[in-house]
Amino acid sequence: MLGDGEEAVLEITEIVRTWKAEGRPGGRDEVLTRLAETGGVYIPRFYDVEYLPDGRIQRVVPNRDRVPYRVFKRTTMDLDAWPYPKQPLVPLAESVHERMSVEIFRGCTRGCRFCQAGMITRPVRERSIEGIGAMVQKGLEATGFEEVGLLSLSSADHSEIAEITKGLADRYEGTNTGLSLPSTRVDAFNIDLANELSRNGRRSGLTFAPEGGSERMRRVINKMVSEEDLIRTVSAAFSNGWRQVKLYFMCGLPTEEDEDVLQIAEMAKNVIRAGRQASGRNDVRCTISIGGFVPKPHTPFQWAAQCDPDTVDDRLRKLREAVNSDRSLGRNIGMRYHDGKPSLIEGLLSRGDRRIGKVIEAVWRDGGRFDGWSEHFSYDRWTAKAAEALEPLGVDLAWFTTREREELEVLPWDHLDSGLDKEWLWADWQDALDEREQDDCRWTPCFDCGVCPAMGTDIEVGPTGRKLLPISPVGVGSPVKNPALSQ
Ligand code: SF4
Repeated sequence: MLGDGEEAVLEITEIVRTWKAEGRPGGRDEVLTRLAETGGVYIPRFYDVEYLPDGRIQRVVPNRDRVPYRVFKRTTMDLDAWPYPKQPLVPLAESVHERMSVEIFRGCTRGCRFCQAGMITRPVRERSIEGIGAMVQKGLEATGFEEVGLLSLSSADHSEIAEITKGLADRYEGTNTGLSLPSTRVDAFNIDLANELSRNGRRSGLTFAPEGGSERMRRVINKMVSEEDLIRTVSAAFSNGWRQVKLYFMCGLPTEEDEDVLQIAEMAKNVIRAGRQASGRNDVRCTISIGGFVPKPHTPFQWAAQCDPDTVDDRLRKLREAVNSDRSLGRNIGMRYHDGKPSLIEGLLSRGDRRIGKVIEAVWRDGGRFDGWSEHFSYDRWTAKAAEALEPLGVDLAWFTTREREELEVLPWDHLDSGLDKEWLWADWQDALDEREQDDCRWTPCFDCGVCPAMGTDIEVGPTGRKLLPISPVGVGSPVKNPALSQ
């Protein structure tokens, strides 16, 4: 099922229930056909793929009546009508993210060109401040968690994030309940927000994701945060008591050169310099975390050639040397990264078509398990099995990963409709190559990505000007913990 599940799951349930009540006519095939008929459920075996002699796809067509040519994603517009989960399961074991998660809005129109989630979840739909308050209150009562994560693709972009964080921090003042946001955009961050987040909890590290080391690279990926913004923000954070900043980047982005990656080292050094100056201390830290870029379907980079692992590894090695070239600054900079090989296999899985199924099965039959864990990952096994399975079909690993696609190539996911106009995606890809930025349509006029007219939807943002009222009991000595545990 494509898109938001809230409403669609009820329709799916109804279809299955009716089919069962009728005595299961036509067996599994019939119920799947009824689901496909809704237009929002993709049944791969109801589609045949025809290939050109060079291995590219010629077309994807339904192989039976009643099945649509394209499958559309579903979009739930009123998130407040769908609060969830009222009584989440709480694991008995301690989990990594031991917190209650509340989604404060869905979708993102910032337009980062590498980001599939941002592209396929458009448009932006905000939950109201009262809806968020109610979800937090009920969730804490039902679970006893001591931390609430305010989640979304870019949480600080909620039009009322200041009121939400202040309202929640006021409500839970004097309790053990802390608030957190996932990594924050530098340009949406401010120190008041950070202070509200840490009012009742720990002052942990701050995380930002500039993604690209150089200004040029950030124009290509449309992540327009400037180094000045970053330095100003971290200076404010360091002078307000923070001691640690984490920065996320990618390596292997389209058009990237060594110089773009080496500027990550300069940025990290400038963060340490600014931190030392702002805090008057020498022990400030900056950790840079670098992931290999993997092009994703339904993004402007779906046509891009993925960077080969040797180039990625070479750039990361040079970056490490650049970080360590200044011992005084370098010892306060941590660097985390993976080599480029797993990213290439991720690239195969990301943009592969149904022919990749044979590779996955062959790897599994050969003992491949838990490949996401580096100690279990075998690049040699993947490359050997890919060669065996794909060679008879006239394609190979490089064909699926490091090959740039042409504008008119039929892509394996073209019949799955996320609402984005393919012509708009192509134009945005050309803008990326020309290093041209694209604004956020939340605050500027629509630039016709196609989602709103295709889905009959619209951007839904505040501000509404409403406030979060205190709940009772609250205050010092009345921690909002799990009432069941305190009885
Ligand atoms: S159709 Fe226009 S307003 Fe809607 S998400 Fe796309 S660019 Fe933004």
